[in-house]
Amino acid sequence: MKVIVTGGAGFIGSAVCRLLAGKNGCEVLNLDKLTYAADMRTVGVISGRRNYSFVQEDICNKPSVEKVFENFQPDAVMHLAAESHVDRSIDGPAEFIQTNVVGTFTLLEVARDYFNGLDDVAKRHFRFHHVSTDEVFGTLGNEGLFTEETPYAPNSPYSASKAGADHLVRAWHHTYGLPVIISNSSNNYGPYQFPEKLIPLMILNILRGKKLPVYGNGQNTRNWLHVEDHAEALFTILTKGKLGEKYNVGGCNEVNNLEVVRKIFDTVRALVPETGCKKFDDIVEFVPDRPGHDWRYAIDPTKIRTELGWTPKYSFDTGLLHTVKWYIEHRDWWEPILKNKYSGERLGQRAVK
Ligand code: NAD
Repeated sequence: MKVIVTGGAGFIGSAVCRLLAGKNGCEVLNLDKLTYAADMRTVGVISGRRNYSFVQEDICNKPSVEKVFENFQPDAVMHLAAESHVDRSIDGPAEFIQTNVVGTFTLLEVARDYFNGLDDVAKRHFRFHHVSTDEVFGTLGNEGLFTEETPYAPNSPYSASKAGADHLVRAWHHTYGLPVIISNSSNNYGPYQFPEKLIPLMILNILRGKKLPVYGNGQNTRNWLHVEDHAEALFTILTKGKLGEKYNVGGCNEVNNLEVVRKIFDTVRALVPETGCKKFDDIVEFVPDRPGHDWRYAIDPTKIRTELGWTPKYSFDTGLLHTVKWYIEHRDWWEPILKNKYSGERLGQRAVK
């Protein structure tokens, strides 16, 4: 199977590329623009393989993306390229509309032309897998779960741009017959996550003896999914999922942000007692909340579990331990990022007067 993975130099896309490149009979082409969030070291371990290649390209650049399809002749597209950080979408939504909406539209048009030119056998195999987020469903109160039938109600520029992309993908299936699948996953964590996101930021702040900024009262609640479990789920959906269907992907855990930060603190302190921090309460700093901060997300993963047989291998505790160890052992990965790209400053406050 020949697969184009868009956004394959990012956090989740690179985990997908690493997984696919290790599968017999898979050939992967990683198509990535290489924004600030990308890092070619995430695919370093597979870069020399014969079944892996890379092209630096913007999904909004239709003629160039057409050439990539023409040359590679994919059996499938796994579309992960996106602007992905909610706080950055609050400061500057334009890039999110451009990549997540216009970029997805452009990719769908290229895929549609390509699909129409395939013979009947190739048409039967082809699929376009759009990778999305549970944030498109908006926020839950204290009860309930997101199912595949939950109506869309996005609240941030990021989630609205992803919701727009999901709707386009759905429409290209219903109107043009493009064989698509959509998956919506909960928050991911794991190795190689850019340190603007909650879990790596907190790990690195503890290791660097810095304060731990917690938004609002820290009670906002999320489901957490280890990135390797997500990559496995995406492969399962690609190979076993039904065309035209949606699948929710999530770990069965619910943890509020303050608990997440406390678990990280305890895990880092157990592994590196000399981090020099005092008590947890002394280094936590409650900071003004994110504008429009969704209260609670919780995925019901029954469909992917019962219909496709996927289950996560990590619990939140085992996944967090694995992740904390990885960051402790990979200073050479994150130190240059903190020095050259992002040093841990607060984002998403420009809209706040
Ligand atoms: P990321 O920010 O780590 O990586 C995104 C990648 O996309 C980067 O390598 C970047 O260079 C590339 N990219 C951005 N704009 C591009 C463009 N115009 N053309 C080509 N490449 C471009 O993101 P991530 O966390 O790995 O998320 C991947 C996908 O999964 C996104 O679609 C995101 O919405 C979705 N998702 C993420 C999470 C999460 O918790 N991180 C949860 C659910 C869904």
